[in-house]
Amino acid sequence: MEKNVYRPHCLVLPFPAQGHINPMMQFSKRLEHKGVKVTVVITKSMSNTIQKEATSIALETISDGYDEGGLTQAESVHAYLERFRRVGFQTLTELIEKLSSSGCPVDCVVYDPFLSWGLDVAKTFGLLGAVFFTQSCVVDNIYYHVHKGVLKLPLSETEILLPGSPPLKPQDLPSFIYDFGSYPAYYDILVGQFSNVDKADWVLVNTFYELEQEVVDWMGKIWPLRTIGPTIPSMFLDKRLENDKEYGLSIFKPNTDACMKWLNDRPKGSVVYVSFGSFAELQVEQMEELAWGLKMSNMSFLWVVRALEESKLPKTFVEETSEKGLIVHWCPQLEVLTHEAVGCFVTQYCGWNSTLEALSFGVPMVAVPQWTDQSTNAKYIMDVWKMGLKAPADEKGLVRREALEHCIREIMEGERAEEIKKNALKWRKLAKEAVDEGGSSDKNIEEFVAKLVHS
Ligand code: UDP
Repeated sequence: MEKNVYRPHCLVLPFPAQGHINPMMQFSKRLEHKGVKVTVVITKSMSNTIQKEATSIALETISDGYDEGGLTQAESVHAYLERFRRVGFQTLTELIEKLSSSGCPVDCVVYDPFLSWGLDVAKTFGLLGAVFFTQSCVVDNIYYHVHKGVLKLPLSETEILLPGSPPLKPQDLPSFIYDFGSYPAYYDILVGQFSNVDKADWVLVNTFYELEQEVVDWMGKIWPLRTIGPTIPSMFLDKRLENDKEYGLSIFKPNTDACMKWLNDRPKGSVVYVSFGSFAELQVEQMEELAWGLKMSNMSFLWVVRALEESKLPKTFVEETSEKGLIVHWCPQLEVLTHEAVGCFVTQYCGWNSTLEALSFGVPMVAVPQWTDQSTNAKYIMDVWKMGLKAPADEKGLVRREALEHCIREIMEGERAEEIKKNALKWRKLAKEAVDEGGSSDKNIEEFVAKLVHS
């Protein structure tokens, strides 16, 4: 940015979950790099638990009404969101007033659509508001059609036709849609994302144009939609932001030394990396099937099993696989995925961030979707982007050990391995180009910043 040009100030408000904080932190770094001042707003309870040392971005806290434990302290998800809406509205308002009176006024609030009241606060001050979607554009489009009442629930059709998407089966839709009524609180949050989106000045989506072209074009006709992803630390992608190696705010502490030392001792492309996301829980039976499927594949594996999930592992599993596997509570996923020893990523949750990361690093995936948007991500990974396989589930909805073993072998050494790897590398190239100077996402961020400066 030229000298003496006004430096706009954005408040960035993520929902307090790792999969939301990571992309919004990363977007904040790209904004700062382009001359915008950014303050990320986190909840008090999160501030007490999070590892903050890795971030240079300014942080401020607001209360969600549960300062001791956040969501874990609340009676229910509904209760949490309701209180967060009331208390958050008030405490975000106070924060904006405080910043203004201390000579650091806010120009724009970039808010998570799970916290759609963030836009109402912005508008009471006459500020700009940008909603930041942390899921894929396809998934956003599905929820939008439910919100509009175009897609009626419970579903009655066997083939769902939506603009910008190939024909989808009910099971390809997010679980809260095809299994309507299963998690009413999450359904309400996800469909509620669109309650006031028409009033937003920008709709930002963590994806890139080349990946979701048709649906981006379609949604771009309704809103001022801009793709700004993949939001991955620069040193792993375009290398334009110096020392940008971490997302910056981690809820869990990674076991970095143990993971990297272990991977360094393994041959190129030989390791299966397996991970849960940051908050979903697995049924005991599913955990057992996956554990034995991994063992049957006879491949080396690095498996992230969160501390709270560890007791679900079969009793003798760790001992029986100690030669082949390493199990950790949390790992530095970006370093792991870019390590040359890793040959495939079994993503038990194929959350959107993990999917974008694997895609951006050219790592083929075995998708084992469990709930929320993972079923849609898995459909696209296998049939649209063709850079992985979706492990088939049985009539109980469980992925059996034989199915997992088969998929791992297919990806690591089977007939389709070469084609899948080739496609994965194609996406890696396109992802890098999108965020690199003059790429589709980079241009969109430039345009966003230019409008902030001149508004
Ligand atoms: N992650 C990590 N270490 C792990 C597992 C996950 O750093 O051991 C990061 C991962 O890189 C991703 C985020 O946590 O950025 C998980 O987000 P995702 O959307 O994949 O899943 P969610 O947590 O939302 O279910």
